[in-house]
Amino acid sequence: MSAERFESDFRAAFELIRRRRSVLVIGHVDPDGDCIGSMLAMAMLLEQMGRQVRCYAPGERSELFDRLPGASLLATLEEVRGFEHDLVIAVDAPTTRRTDNVARPCRGEDVINFDHHPTNDLYGCVNIVDESAAATTVLIHRFMRTVAPGMITPGIADCLYLGILMDTGGFRFQNTNAEALRIAGELVGLGARAYELAHDFIFMKKFGSLKLLGLVLETLSMHLGGRVATMEVTAGMLALTGTAMKDSEGFIDYGAALDDVELIALFREMGADEVRVSLRSRNDHDVAVLAERFGGGGHARAAGLTVRGSLEQARGMILEGFAEMIG
Ligand code: 5GP
Ligand code: MN
Repeated sequence: MSAERFESDFRAAFELIRRRRSVLVIGHVDPDGDCIGSMLAMAMLLEQMGRQVRCYAPGERSELFDRLPGASLLATLEEVRGFEHDLVIAVDAPTTRRTDNVARPCRGEDVINFDHHPTNDLYGCVNIVDESAAATTVLIHRFMRTVAPGMITPGIADCLYLGILMDTGGFRFQNTNAEALRIAGELVGLGARAYELAHDFIFMKKFGSLKLLGLVLETLSMHLGGRVATMEVTAGMLALTGTAMKDSEGFIDYGAALDDVELIALFREMGADEVRVSLRSRNDHDVAVLAERFGGGGHARAAGLTVRGSLEQARGMILEGFAEMIG
């Protein structure tokens, strides 16, 4: 729960950073606000400490993140391949597979692992993993408060705040706890721009994204006596609205908004033979267990996986799993 629990790990991580010159900060595929916020906050601290630093997360990311302080430290895979580093810091990634294995210590580098997923397999030499943290940025904040309290600049505060804002769904999800709210308040005191971040990352939508939402809502269906809801994003819908898959971020919340629905799945057609599935639970059903069964993972109430197959096959598999779960 508290910062004290990781005190010796925080010191060990800080010592490691002090002894190294060049750090690669790595996040999970298709990074979200918590992942990017964690990477940039950490990178800006490292820069202040005089370290060489680059950030990398595979996959697609929203261009909105490019407005964040420190965004110039986000590198492409090519840049990262040419970047000599002697330490890796992985954030918000439960396994090295979620980082396309870039965080694997292939050249003998040490890895520090900051994460709040219960499915984390502790791949680091220092593991700061706590599923009670609402966001990975909560853990980064605990770390900074312990080892470098005077170094949380307004830019770092923005990035840490963004992680909490996004992973709590704008302070609405069940992980919205006292610590998240207390730290959010502290960060605003340090210069985090609560209004601007909520405006840019939660309120504001692109025209194409809203048109896409219209098409996706048409696919909203109820199953298993109204206890399950599903939605779909097809490649055709993206073409019709001139959007990319990342423009469907957050759409699953509309399914989760339905009264009496317990389990929700969103299917995204990534290619002819690949479907990304997002799962949500509104009660005690643990969707991470179902996701893990098919090679994915996540949290009890929010998890994801990739299915090799058609949209219909993915839907069939998940509905079968849901039926077993609710009995
Ligand atoms: P989303 O549905 O928003 O993409 O993901 C929900 C949660 O599940 C996030 O916490 C995310 O990190 C996790 N998650 C999504 N997809 C995967 C996956 O393929 N593997 C693992 N281990 N976790 C995932
Ligand atoms: Mn997270």
